[in-house]
Amino acid sequence: DQPRQDIAGEAPEEILHRVFGHPAFRGRQEEIVRHVMAGGSGLVLMPTGGGKSLCYQVPALCRPGLGIVVSPLIALMEDQVAALRQQGVAAAALHSDLPEEQAREVRRDLGRGQVKLLYISPERLTLDGTLDFLSRRDLALFAIDEAHCVSQWGHHFRPEYRGLGLLAERFPSVPRLALTATADPRTVEDIRAQLGLSESPVFRGGFDRPNIFISAAPRESERSQLRAFVKAASDGTGAGIVYCGTRAKTEQTAEWLRGDGHDALCFHAGMDPEAKRQSHRRFARGDAVIMAATIAFGMGIDRPDVRWVCHLDLPRSPESWYQEIGRAGRDGLPARALLLYGAGDIALARHRIQESPALDEQKRIERARLEAMVSIAEAATCRRRILLRCFGEALGPGDPENCGACDVCRDPPRLFDGTVPAQKLLSAVLRTRLPSGMHFGLGHVVDVLRGRVTPKVAQFAHDKVKTFGIGADLSDAAWRGVARQLVARGALDVAIENHGELVPTEAARPILKGEEKVLLREETVSAATPRERAGR
Ligand code: ADP
Ligand code: ZN
Repeated sequence: DQPRQDIAGEAPEEILHRVFGHPAFRGRQEEIVRHVMAGGSGLVLMPTGGGKSLCYQVPALCRPGLGIVVSPLIALMEDQVAALRQQGVAAAALHSDLPEEQAREVRRDLGRGQVKLLYISPERLTLDGTLDFLSRRDLALFAIDEAHCVSQWGHHFRPEYRGLGLLAERFPSVPRLALTATADPRTVEDIRAQLGLSESPVFRGGFDRPNIFISAAPRESERSQLRAFVKAASDGTGAGIVYCGTRAKTEQTAEWLRGDGHDALCFHAGMDPEAKRQSHRRFARGDAVIMAATIAFGMGIDRPDVRWVCHLDLPRSPESWYQEIGRAGRDGLPARALLLYGAGDIALARHRIQESPALDEQKRIERARLEAMVSIAEAATCRRRILLRCFGEALGPGDPENCGACDVCRDPPRLFDGTVPAQKLLSAVLRTRLPSGMHFGLGHVVDVLRGRVTPKVAQFAHDKVKTFGIGADLSDAAWRGVARQLVARGALDVAIENHGELVPTEAARPILKGEEKVLLREETVSAATPRERAGR
């Protein structure tokens, strides 16, 4: 059965049914396909699994000429080509890992006009020889997959992608469709500018994953929170993923989980390739297997029945969090995500950005991403709504307030006027400041608030300050909650390099003066040990 060389002339719906076997287009696919069929260019923002491939595959097969797909990932290229060939499409790939003999074969087929869809790496495409060849050919379209790789603001910048800007000039009449799952506004604008798509439409959609129940909770006792969550979320056969902030923590967590009776593996970038492969393989097959991993674990997780994802440390942006929790519930069945966070995480992440060698502009962006992540973690309103808004998407028609599938919507937190505890905490921080300008960390401040004469309290005569003992009414955990919410709203900084010294910011002033109300989540503050929301 020879792959079909030219099926141009068929209608998009026919191709959809006959080649891909799907009864109908999904979401915005049809609109995008029509736009490209008519010769238009544009940018497609859809999450992983949203169905981006069809947006270019269908018009590439319908339009006359060769379709070019730029992709940075050789493994994905090979998968797609293999799948297309099986469906009878004359697809081929050209990249640097291809043995010379095979590359020659592909070039021969291209020369004979026997390829309909060519997957190519950006560095191959931008070679003079390739461009010359293409300029003599009829081209159906250019698809630029993983288009965020062109942006320096993202975490995945690839210098080879920069060269793709020239496609707009060299091939002005060929439609260019860029595609990505990254949708933060800054990256989107950068992609459009770099790829000459500023005048072309942006198609955005499909980010909501209503089958994933999302929740977040302050970290109180990490392991019992994780244990309760796993118990509630796993179905006995599907897999789970625990994302950890460090490599060491993946190993410790996997070990602890094994001790707790689970089949647990770990994965991080520091492992040798064979160990990684093995981890991947076992994760792909195991019943109720759990992977404790850093964010290095992501590419190539195609298990549809990941039932849950838990983050033990704060992700760096809503985009990262979304990508990582999006690995759950691909089968469309109910799945759960839990995010654990603490004031320390927030402070550490802020500190890392501050200390990074990045440009100021980039730091500002990173900080904005982090603050958006904090606002989701500390949310008093629907978390999904805040998350989707980060991608420029509404919750649904009419943008309802309640998604019904996050912890906040299911069980709205009661808020209360926490201005007084906030003031107490801030003034305890200020009144224990040393003449050198040094502040103390949270542990000491809580000792002072609760009126405990520890050796350190005695040493600095902090039992004589006005705030000593004014916070006896709240538990230690409650005070940590107050501090975390003050850190989250930027009224307190935690100086990591200085043993977690708490430093009030400008934003603390109106609170202390009583000019600004502080609404606190009752749960965090009233309970001695906050309920394990995860366990519900
Ligand atoms: P993305 O590239 O956005 O991550 P894919 O293009 O790989 O997503 O599509 C994800 C899955 O959805 C694939 O299994 C694909 O077959 C399926 N899919 C895409 N479009 C449709 C459709 N219109 N009808 C049914 N299934 C679809
Ligand atoms: Zn909600």
